[in-house]
Amino acid sequence: VTTTRLGPGREFDAIRRILADAPAPGPGVALAAGDDCALIRPESGNVYLAVTSDMAVEGVHFRSEWGSPEEIGGRAVRAAASDLAAMAAEPIGVLASIAVPSDDGAELAERVGRGCRTAAETLGLDLLGGDLAGGAQALTVDVTAIGRARDPLLRAGARPGDELWVTGRLGGAAAAVAAWLAGREPEAAWRERFWRPVPRLAPARWLAERGASAAIDLSDGLAADAGHLAAASGVGIELDLGDVPAAEGVELLRALTGGEDYELLVAAAPDILADEAAGFRARFDLDLTRVGRAVVGAGVRVYRDDEEVEVGRPGFDHFEGEGDGAESKEGVR
Ligand SMILES: [Mg+2]
Repeated sequence: VTTTRLGPGREFDAIRRILADAPAPGPGVALAAGDDCALIRPESGNVYLAVTSDMAVEGVHFRSEWGSPEEIGGRAVRAAASDLAAMAAEPIGVLASIAVPSDDGAELAERVGRGCRTAAETLGLDLLGGDLAGGAQALTVDVTAIGRARDPLLRAGARPGDELWVTGRLGGAAAAVAAWLAGREPEAAWRERFWRPVPRLAPARWLAERGASAAIDLSDGLAADAGHLAAASGVGIELDLGDVPAAEGVELLRALTGGEDYELLVAAAPDILADEAAGFRARFDLDLTRVGRAVVGAGVRVYRDDEEVEVGRPGFDHFEGEGDGAESKEGVR
């Protein structure tokens, strides 16, 4: 595998156009753009280098008044590390580049950088480098994360008949954002989920060792990210809304569509994980819940009590309002 089919959406249409007619990747590249990480072929042995980048922009991904500069840096590192988890990679290190508005200057950059470093150390990542810039229009943190993957879990591995499982409970981060946007202080647990998501690094490797066939981390929301997994694997996905594990106090539809929880969606052949779920919960103190299945077809369907539920176009659209998104509906690369 060298490329991965992207799901629908204007952001992904733009990526498709950027990558259209690109030459075949060089011999060092085992998996090019389109999955949670690119995979670099090892010089010897069979351990891939997994590489990914993730950008956090004030006013787009967060607002400064919602948290501290340290939390802003920490969240950016955690989000990038989550892409390593999505490949079942072990953490190596991160590079963090930080741009700040000029009126805040060096002190703000330093505090964001300290937040990056603290989160990296917590997750077992070395802070390998980065860059600082002043005079930006908006505070921006761009993190590159690097890991090693022995048996990488790709988005493309799901097959019709596979079960779909999610880790943890969903919707807390989206509930925090909704509260802030409504001028309220969110529940402490939701706030924690937004600013300190936990990349599921060890759980992902555990699931890969037990034979999971595919994985993606939930950045855009369960429904949207299931669409990316479906597109990459060439399958349809059916989700059972009543089985979606919502965070405490969060409604089911928000748990289905809310982004940035950074839990994992994993596919596995039938019955592989059913007997293992209790052991998973005991070991990681984390829920593992079956939420649906892969089927022959394409796209994502959501059911409640065997009735299909219309959820509209799920997930965050960075380019909402530009064009009609006609290409998106094809979901082609
Ligand atoms: Mg991801």
